Amino acid sequence: MLYIGSHVGFNKNSQLLGSLEEALSYNANTFMFYTGAPQNTMRYPIDDKLTQEAYDKMQELGILLDKVIVHAPYIINLANPVEEKHRFAVNFLSEEVKRCEKLGITKMVLHPGSHVGCGIDNGIKNIVDGLNEIMKNNQSVCILLETMAGKGSEVGSNFEEIKRIIDGVEKKELIGVCMDTCHMHDAGYDLNDFDKVLNDFDKIVGLSYVKCIHINDSKNICGARRDRHENIGKGYIGLENLLNVIYHKKLDNITKILETPYINDVAPYKEEIALIRKNAR
Ligand code: FE
Ligand code: FE
Ligand code: ZN
Repeated sequence: MLYIGSHVGFNKNSQLLGSLEEALSYNANTFMFYTGAPQNTMRYPIDDKLTQEAYDKMQELGILLDKVIVHAPYIINLANPVEEKHRFAVNFLSEEVKRCEKLGITKMVLHPGSHVGCGIDNGIKNIVDGLNEIMKNNQSVCILLETMAGKGSEVGSNFEEIKRIIDGVEKKELIGVCMDTCHMHDAGYDLNDFDKVLNDFDKIVGLSYVKCIHINDSKNICGARRDRHENIGKGYIGLENLLNVIYHKKLDNITKILETPYINDVAPYKEEIALIRKNAR
């Protein structure tokens, strides 16, 4: 079964219900959202009445809460070696986990972090320590490490680094991976041979860890390490290669999320989802 959706908004007055309605307007059957502005830590309380209304509507339409994704705010950097910044990241992520639990969300995508000069080994250690601390009080939210483009000092732009983080996490049932096609391509993985990429991932990390895939084209060539998303079929990855990922039999039932750029201030998701469905294979 294809679970396809996009990044959608989440605002104070409509919350999960509003996110769901936006997703439905794109003919999506799943979605991803930030529980507040991704660039700051301002958060307002979750309204259980709105959550229940969203659940009712999802049940009516057969939309599975378990396929819906939250994205952790990107200002969070667990790899940061500065103690107070690391602490801030751990505390804020713990709060995000609680918000996910309150919403019934079971999967949260996280950028592993940037080592900002302390080196890859220290960066990985900081991430692992932070994750283990967050998971102490977390019973139900699986944290999905996103594969990164390798911009700046980003950790997690190759499968080996993702594997090292997973190895350090004590509660393996609470850790997973979110592949991002733009990021993998930018990091140097050639999606013209996606079977090879998947095999490598399976050997190094294990395919069972993949719980979400971000579907984006890239504005740059393979290995550019730039992280500039492009609309589906308009970039250097191309429609065929993206369809290969979306309809790959080994990735069936895994949530696929579009994070492609708006075109003239309009979300492209309805058209992109239609294009993807039209090319079902
Ligand atoms: Fe991301
Ligand atoms: Fe992404
Ligand atoms: Zn990106």
